[in-house]
Amino acid sequence: MQFRVLGCSGGQVPGQQLSSYLVNEDLLIDAGSTTAVLSLKAQTRIRNVLITHAHLDHVMSLATLADNLFGIDGTIRVWGLPDVLAGLHASFFNDTLWPDFTRITGGNQSSPVLSFHPLTPERETPIDGLSVTAVRVNHAVTSTAFFVENAKGILLHVGDTGPTDKIWSIARRKKKLRAVVLESSFPNRLQSIADLSQHLTPRTLASEAQKLRRPSIPILVTHLKPQFRNEIITELKKLKGLRVKILRQGDSFKV
Ligand SMILES: [Zn+2]
Ligand SMILES: [Zn+2]
Repeated sequence: MQFRVLGCSGGQVPGQQLSSYLVNEDLLIDAGSTTAVLSLKAQTRIRNVLITHAHLDHVMSLATLADNLFGIDGTIRVWGLPDVLAGLHASFFNDTLWPDFTRITGGNQSSPVLSFHPLTPERETPIDGLSVTAVRVNHAVTSTAFFVENAKGILLHVGDTGPTDKIWSIARRKKKLRAVVLESSFPNRLQSIADLSQHLTPRTLASEAQKLRRPSIPILVTHLKPQFRNEIITELKKLKGLRVKILRQGDSFKV
């Protein structure tokens, strides 16, 4: 599968877009910056969206995506753990902050632009030729890691999280695992803030990655906060015994 970074920043400043990743042109993982990066034509190809969690920096362009695609008469399936979808419905698509695009039809839009589909934790769900398994991780709100699998390999995309265990015990058994996307939001000197907000620093990213016990697997680092970016990168470069790659907007990998 092709994995393309639309945005991978833990904050938004010019040139650094919020979390959003495209798998094979039609599956999104998170939607922090989708409509700021993809052309309208590319937006119309999206069929499915996996949402790690309902924080705005991961979902805000679901609003503009739904708005842009209304009237083209397609439906995008939005997948997430039940708590994540309930949060989106209650706090975002609630007809106050934004219209409830899971209900609106009209003109040539015969079915709503968005439909919500709950994922059962730790169970494989087939989604348009891929297999997706959601596993809960540790964050201020329900947050998710996704195993995205095709015949050739598995990508593990870990959403915002503090230290966690279950995902690694499952990942250790996945022989086809090719890469892990993992966050590092704060520098080591702000470890207490990272712990409180349930994020990782280079130090805790390293201890998480070591739980995988497979040092040859690349760790693709994401969600660096722009105000600490240089400091975090300096600390990541000092890590030993891991294959760390800092993701950049526009990166594209075959998994
Ligand atoms: Zn978050
Ligand atoms: Zn975030």
